[in-house]
Amino acid sequence: MNDAVVPSAADVPKAAPRVGFVSLGCPKALTDSELILTQLSAEGYQTSKTFDGADLVIVNTCGFIDEAVKESLDTIGEALAENGRVIVTGCLGAKTAEGGSNLVKSLHPSVLAVTGPHATQEVMDAVHQNLPKPHDPFLDLVPQSFGVAGLKLTPRHYAYLKISEGCNHRCTFCIIPSMRGDLVSRPIGDVLKEAQALFEGGVRELLVISQDTSAYGVDLKYRTGFWDGKPVKTRTLELAQALGELAAPFGAWVRLHYVYPYPSVDELIPLMAQGLVLPYLDVPFQHSHPEVLRRMKRPASGERNLERLARWRELCPQLVVRSTFIAGFPGETEAEFEHLLDFMREARIDRAGCFAYSPVEAATANELPGQLPAELREERRARFMAVAEEVSAAKLLERVGATMQVLVDSAPALGRKGGVGRSYADAPEIDGVVRLLPPEKISKTLKVGEFTRARIVGTEGHDLVAMPF
Ligand code: SF4
Repeated sequence: MNDAVVPSAADVPKAAPRVGFVSLGCPKALTDSELILTQLSAEGYQTSKTFDGADLVIVNTCGFIDEAVKESLDTIGEALAENGRVIVTGCLGAKTAEGGSNLVKSLHPSVLAVTGPHATQEVMDAVHQNLPKPHDPFLDLVPQSFGVAGLKLTPRHYAYLKISEGCNHRCTFCIIPSMRGDLVSRPIGDVLKEAQALFEGGVRELLVISQDTSAYGVDLKYRTGFWDGKPVKTRTLELAQALGELAAPFGAWVRLHYVYPYPSVDELIPLMAQGLVLPYLDVPFQHSHPEVLRRMKRPASGERNLERLARWRELCPQLVVRSTFIAGFPGETEAEFEHLLDFMREARIDRAGCFAYSPVEAATANELPGQLPAELREERRARFMAVAEEVSAAKLLERVGATMQVLVDSAPALGRKGGVGRSYADAPEIDGVVRLLPPEKISKTLKVGEFTRARIVGTEGHDLVAMPF
């Protein structure tokens, strides 16, 4: 006889409320998204990346350049059309329209709520108001594998670690400080705890981000915090050292982004030479000419960057430098632009990106005299990129024949048909990749999130081609 009991309607667990989530913008916005998703999941909400079947949609927006604003506004419009119940958060949410009203609300009055960036609690309050919290003690809480680090939007084997919010600088082309406020560094103990949880959860590459990584701890006067019962200063050098030591038992990588060329960076180079953190520096130079840098009000603009780069490379010959530049900044003369091209040739920046200057609403650079026509800005960007690509291609060619350690990002069929990975010289999303050929040895397999050694056999545009062994 069958003992099965037919459940009554009251016994059938109600599906958890579903929140669709769209995350736009930079890695800093991504970490905000992760915090909100972690909280939603901890409270028993289901989350998804689509609007389909969602009871409500959250859009995390970007408001940095005009194109990003457009993308964010379009996404909000789409979410309203398809779902109708939308909460907006992120940088665009902090922007005001002419007349001082909230920009998003004035363009999309039917959104349920709007918050600025890093506002997890405000977003959760808006969710609670519009989609009550589920009460189901059997719902899964935060996945244990990442513990204090919460949910990650990146693949499991790499993660961004945000060490501070905001920025004390006032670069004339940037409105981030007005959206995110002055620098607020996270306590070093919290940062290291999160890093450890990430490594324990399977992360093999930690990408340290902020608006200005070299300024970490300035707001706290480099106060001494505690980690693992020991005192440790809230400062980039001590942080990099501690992260390197935490990563070592896992064989994991630590990569530093957004480092300004202050003299204090010299102290980080020996850590790179020792292999404690990756010999990779993401330094947003933006320009080389002192007058343009002065008009941009860039931090560390008075440093002798060519000499500094030469000294860093002397201390750590394998150092890879990534940077971004702006061509056609207001008042840029042909001679100033040529100075930038000469700098690029001499500095031999391994990975360079360049934007044609474009005015950002409410940035002070908009008031500068000598605004250049769009075609000239674009033409200079193209000329810069031609030089940058020449430098980068020559540097990639120097790697042919070398053996490199590669972190595997994709490897269908255990890599029997090859795969895609990255070396220490390639940050995810922004740099090139290493295309892995099918291994010659039949027993050799490739697995996502694991390291393999590979011999570089050629180049392909910005990428390397390698034979794993
Ligand atoms: S350093 Fe300059 S560009 Fe970077 S966030 Fe601060 S103000 Fe903006």
